[in-house]
Amino acid sequence: MITASHINKTYTSPDGAAFQALNDISFSIDQGEFVGIIGPSGAGKTTLLRTLNLFDPPTSGSIVIDGQEVTAPGYPVDRLRQKVGYVFQQCNLFPHLTLMGNITLALTKVQHLPESEARTRALDALNKVSLAEKASAFPSALSGGQQQRAAIARTLALQPKILLLDEPTSALDPTMVSEITGVMRLLAKEGLTMILVTHKMRLARDLAQRILFLDRGSLIEDCPANRIFQQPENPVVRAYIQRIRTLEFNVTSRQFDFYDMMSQIRQFCIRQAIPEKMDPITHIVEEMLLLLGNYHSPVHIEVTHSELDGVAKVVIVHQGESVSPLERPDADELAVMIIRGMSSHIDTDTTPDGIRLTFSI
Ligand code: ADP
Ligand code: MG
Repeated sequence: MITASHINKTYTSPDGAAFQALNDISFSIDQGEFVGIIGPSGAGKTTLLRTLNLFDPPTSGSIVIDGQEVTAPGYPVDRLRQKVGYVFQQCNLFPHLTLMGNITLALTKVQHLPESEARTRALDALNKVSLAEKASAFPSALSGGQQQRAAIARTLALQPKILLLDEPTSALDPTMVSEITGVMRLLAKEGLTMILVTHKMRLARDLAQRILFLDRGSLIEDCPANRIFQQPENPVVRAYIQRIRTLEFNVTSRQFDFYDMMSQIRQFCIRQAIPEKMDPITHIVEEMLLLLGNYHSPVHIEVTHSELDGVAKVVIVHQGESVSPLERPDADELAVMIIRGMSSHIDTDTTPDGIRLTFSI
């Protein structure tokens, strides 16, 4: 369905400096495949996606889509855009038009469909994303997730053979991500060829059959999704996939800003898309500080999240101590009960720094 051969993309700045955003990239994608493109920020993921439908044509190399070389001189871009739909990070719906109006616009103006046919197609597309009953609503009356689904419906109404999606969930509240995931899963089942750019490892693992990994403009891995996530061989890929995000605090005095720490932890949970873990994490930290409050040794706190397996941990090191605060005879019973109830597992280690407790959530 798509064959890209030796794609290079160089951007030249006004002062003449050249920057190579894509470096000799080749791959091919079969009809009905769902491919994920992952890699660090700035790796060239968006640039690659934009070259595929010639928003930003490659500097050299060729792209064949559905049997036609679209990079050949004079190839009509309109024909390509009918085959390849593009969903942006921000959904760009027209605020002054209803969903129906937004969707029929391109169908009547670009594809010259009669109004009635355009409306039938728009309704079909809205049905697919479960928004048929919002056809006459304006975008401002919808949630972020509904707006993004409407944007997907607008693209689907053009009946593309290939759908390119650039971080379609990244502008959304984490609670809305599953709506978009559900739609992508349904479209995959219907056999649409899809390419999803995402930096969310779990999303790529759950949806894509195959992964292309980009690093600094080069394609450094192209393999089945289960292999890349289970046994990544390339060390760069492995480090990226297994990365763990960490938030750290040192509590050395009673003047410590407890509320600021709690607010940073909540923001961390939102950024990491784990709102459901916010309560357990904040409770564990709060109750642990309560337990440790009677002692005056410094406390080191770490909140970590592994994106791939979804496990969050709170690590607390009570410096210079050797007894677990949970085991002390004078420990507050309610605090201990809350901490145990909020953790799926607790590890206790004695380290040269002090007693170290690891709460898995
Ligand atoms: P990703 O989507 O993987 O985060 P991008 O494809 O957006 O990365 O960008 C890749 C690199 O190309 C970045 O270093 C970016 O600054 C550069 N780049 C992207 N678009 C342009 C442009 N229009 N002009 C100059 N440089 C660009
Ligand atoms: Mg990008």
